[in-house]
Amino acid sequence: MTVAAKKLESVLRVKSEIMRAAGEYLRKEGFVEILPVILSPVTDPLHHETYDGKIDYYGRPYQLTKSMILHKQIALRTLPRILAFSPNVRMEPEERAPLRRYLAEFVQLDLEVRDATRDEIIAIGEGLFIAVVKAVLENCAAELESLGRKLSVPAAPFERITYQEAVEQFGKHYDEALSSSLSGPAWLIDFPRTVREFYDKEDLSRPGILLDMDLIYPEGYGEALSGGEREHTLPRILRRLEQDNIPPERFAEYLRVVEEGVPASAGFGIGIERLTRYICGLDHVRDARLFAKVPGEVDAI
Ligand code: ASP
Ligand code: MG
Repeated sequence: MTVAAKKLESVLRVKSEIMRAAGEYLRKEGFVEILPVILSPVTDPLHHETYDGKIDYYGRPYQLTKSMILHKQIALRTLPRILAFSPNVRMEPEERAPLRRYLAEFVQLDLEVRDATRDEIIAIGEGLFIAVVKAVLENCAAELESLGRKLSVPAAPFERITYQEAVEQFGKHYDEALSSSLSGPAWLIDFPRTVREFYDKEDLSRPGILLDMDLIYPEGYGEALSGGEREHTLPRILRRLEQDNIPPERFAEYLRVVEEGVPASAGFGIGIERLTRYICGLDHVRDARLFAKVPGEVDAI
């Protein structure tokens, strides 16, 4: 076996353990795993530009899902706590390729909890992260050694930084600099409404500020996850769509369900390949999966 093949084998074994340990932790916390949706008339609009994965569905315009966020809210009508390993297709512009953490096709561990607050979801995120790191240290010691990766278990609660503090300290493109300055994972909280999607809940006691968060890895690995509390009432969602200049007709199927009622909730989606990249200490996220598709590269299988 070549060195590269041996390395890939170790990475895939670690990744498999990450998914096993994450599922085990969440099941113990009362989550039920549901299957992902990959084809829908509505999907995450995302705040940054991506090409749509358009599908002609019996003559109607459907898309490959960019995230399961809207379906997570709807699934909570049936179950109080859900998780899904959901494939996301986000065909990012080629300019993002040099950041080394974008894949056009990746898997997100999505979770959502009925009636939860951001603080409760942050606590679940910390417990999940710690459980996964512990499991990999315990069950994949040989793989970590062959990858030359030293990992330590972070202590909860993780540090919290506001978006405003990050921008003041590191500028608008704070990503890499913030991540490189950290000694452990940290929460970036309170994004302004104007830089995020319509479904993240606005804190009406601080207009313009959202009850959302990202988790940022240390060592320059950048963003791990995004999530937050959600807008779930029709008037608020319509208002947010209007503020984002999104015609409500684009979300007609979703809005019909919201009108019937979806519960208040909070949750997040953590990228499995990025988590694997961090845990294994890999230079590029492409090394964290088979059949990687990097933005702009068109020869992938
Ligand atoms: N919006 C997140 C994403 O980037 C997911 C979430 O909020 O649950 O996919
Ligand atoms: Mg994000």
